[in-house]
Amino acid sequence: MSRKTDYIKKVLGDNVPVPVIELVNVSKSYQPGTEALSDVSLRIDKGEFVFIVGHSGSGKSTLIKLLMKETSPSSGKIFVNNKDLSKIRHHQIPALRRKIGVVFQSFRLLKDRNIFENVAFAQRIIEKSSKEIKKNVPAVLSIVGLEDKMDKFPNELSGGEQQRVAVARALVNAPSILLADEPTGNLDPKNSWEIMKLLNDINKRGTTVVVVTHNEEIVNVMQKRVITIEHGVIVSDVKRGGYSSED
Ligand code: ADP
Repeated sequence: MSRKTDYIKKVLGDNVPVPVIELVNVSKSYQPGTEALSDVSLRIDKGEFVFIVGHSGSGKSTLIKLLMKETSPSSGKIFVNNKDLSKIRHHQIPALRRKIGVVFQSFRLLKDRNIFENVAFAQRIIEKSSKEIKKNVPAVLSIVGLEDKMDKFPNELSGGEQQRVAVARALVNAPSILLADEPTGNLDPKNSWEIMKLLNDINKRGTTVVVVTHNEEIVNVMQKRVITIEHGVIVSDVKRGGYSSED
């Protein structure tokens, strides 16, 4: 926490918005002469639920890669939990990524491990003890409603269930931000809604949730903050909004 935020909290109490993601005049160019993101400034506070929408090629994946420090901006500053990513050293990158749980369109589960192991894997990487893993994994699987499927393998579950396992894996290390990149892209409408309700519940319990999506119906029904990116520029940022890809 920065000294400024600490001071404001002291003056105003605990209800002060705390930024978890901040981009200040960020541009990213992969090749000279073209920009995937152009002068993007953006702030997402603790506890928010945000949709990021925009056509293919508009810069959404670039934004996610920048937040995970998979790539670096050509100019501008990025802060995650008030940490300036340009000042994070190579060996500190795993710790940054642990603060951000990620869910992908394609689930990305390990096919040869059962559900328990798929979630436990994320805890083993950070060297949690077996005792803690035995406690945490069933607990997080119960949040996504799959405690009774711990011994199954991914191919024994439906697409919606596999995505719920991926959500559990993203959550097990208690990240401050849950980033979902097209989480419903491979799901039918019923399972899509179940995943979105789950993400909404997780948000209500305190985790900041950022969802990149093309799913107009979901964005329109949920009426959350919607940030629209076009050609690398934020063209709108509304507190409670919808989305139409026709725009
Ligand atoms: P989205 O996720 O919204 O589809 P991207 O962030 O993937 O958009 O892409 C934004 C722009 O950057 C596109 O024009 C894309 O072709 C370009 N781009 C993305 N990744 C790379 C890369 N690794 N090298 C060169 N150009 C890239």
